[in-house]
Amino acid sequence: MVFNPVQKQFNDFSKKARKINRNFNLNIVYSIMDLTSGYPYWLIKSGLPANYPKLESNLKTDVLIIGGGISGALSAWHLCEAGIECTVVDGRTIGLGSTSASTSLLQYELDTSLSVLSRIIGNKKATRAYNLCYSAIDKLIAISKKLQFTEIEKRHSLYFAAQEKDTKLLELEYKARSNAGLKVDLLNKRDIKKEYGFSAPAAILSSQGATTNAYMFTHALLQQGLKKGLSVFDRTKITSKKYSNTGITLHTEQGHIIRAKKVINATGYEVTEFLNKNIIELKSTYALISENMQSPTPPWKDGTMLWNTADPYLYIRITSDNRIIVGGRDEDFYDPAARDKLIKRKTKLLAKDFSKLFPSINMIPEYSWIGTFGSTKDSLPYIGGYNKTPNTYYSLGFGGNGIVFSLIAAEIICDMIKGKKNENAELFSFDR
Ligand SMILES: Cc1cc2nc3c(=O)[nH]c(=O)nc-3n(C[C@H](O)[C@H](O)[C@H](O)COP(=O)(O)OP(=O)(O)OC[C@H]3O[C@@H](n4cnc5c(N)ncnc54)[C@H](O)[C@@H]3O)c2cc1C
Repeated sequence: MVFNPVQKQFNDFSKKARKINRNFNLNIVYSIMDLTSGYPYWLIKSGLPANYPKLESNLKTDVLIIGGGISGALSAWHLCEAGIECTVVDGRTIGLGSTSASTSLLQYELDTSLSVLSRIIGNKKATRAYNLCYSAIDKLIAISKKLQFTEIEKRHSLYFAAQEKDTKLLELEYKARSNAGLKVDLLNKRDIKKEYGFSAPAAILSSQGATTNAYMFTHALLQQGLKKGLSVFDRTKITSKKYSNTGITLHTEQGHIIRAKKVINATGYEVTEFLNKNIIELKSTYALISENMQSPTPPWKDGTMLWNTADPYLYIRITSDNRIIVGGRDEDFYDPAARDKLIKRKTKLLAKDFSKLFPSINMIPEYSWIGTFGSTKDSLPYIGGYNKTPNTYYSLGFGGNGIVFSLIAAEIICDMIKGKKNENAELFSFDR
């Protein structure tokens, strides 16, 4: 992996921090990155749906969750349901990390196909990871029902070959998924044209999938949490942490002290102390949203989520207000200045990618945006404890399935805090 200068700065910092932090007397400083730019649609659509206070005094809490994005919000929801006292703090306004930029497709299909993942971690573990993601989608839908949050829709997912030569890959993948008990169909060129109206050599159709709005989902979770005794503070950045065997003492940028028995680190890509372990590769990804399609029906069958075998892959979804989101065209760097310069060109390219597939659909881009995202070698998240930071848990849902991973992380971490063994934890552990 090649690091850019910003990452190198983080690495150098992390090295220094680890030197200071031997013997669990840790004092790690966090930095805030430039995660998004452009006009993420959810922010334009919903603006600031709720206000949360800044932390203005010292605080004691059983569990402190650092990060009020979808990961922190799902963890808070699980802890509140379990009757565990907890507090969320975020350095930004709630939701304005990666969550506000998320295109919010909920897929069980990871960035690494099941057939390839099986070769990396073994078939049994790979199948378990796929099955966990599969059921996570149903769980997210069930939670949204409890919250009466309606911006989540079940959708099929169509994974299509970008080129003729990828047909073999898809056939292999279809076999692997069928053997794992996942309900899929293999479509040929004629089926795809007839059913979906575009040309591709082959595709796998999955009935399991959904689309949502992660930004508003986050607010809905936190608002429900507030009713159950959760405290939420935004614009409250944690600048240092000190670990002991009985708990963690944290300092905020405003100079207040938080004492917590346990900490959940749901800080997304800003988890700098691990960067030099090479667990994450930071990238920039681009998305656009079209004008409203002014038609009561989706422009292709069932508004199915579409994505392909290209690298980086192209993906397409429909929103509940009948707009088309097109995403992809990733760059292998984080550098915000370089990334932002490309936004106009990337928007044009994404629009071109779309019209190549659907020349007869008049898709006019209205807004476009950019987000940082990170991927891991096996496309699996890092979840759970880390031996150098006692009483601390990590919810790091890196990769294209970040939201589904946030749910899995919330379940695992909630069990760990309750002292209950979770048999899925080892799949995502730092020791894997
Ligand atoms: C353009 C784009 C498209 C995507 N599309 C999809 C998709 O279709 N499906 C999918 O599943 N995933 C997708 N993802 C990934 C998904 O959005 C992320 O995995 C998810 O939003 C991460 O949520 P999070 O809560 O972990 O991180 P964040 O939303 O970044 O939240 C972390 C929070 O921690 C706070 N924080 C950090 N450090 C500190 C500190 N020191 N003190 C206090 N607070 C701190 C930050 O301010 C931030 O708000 C996409 C990502 C991008 C960028």
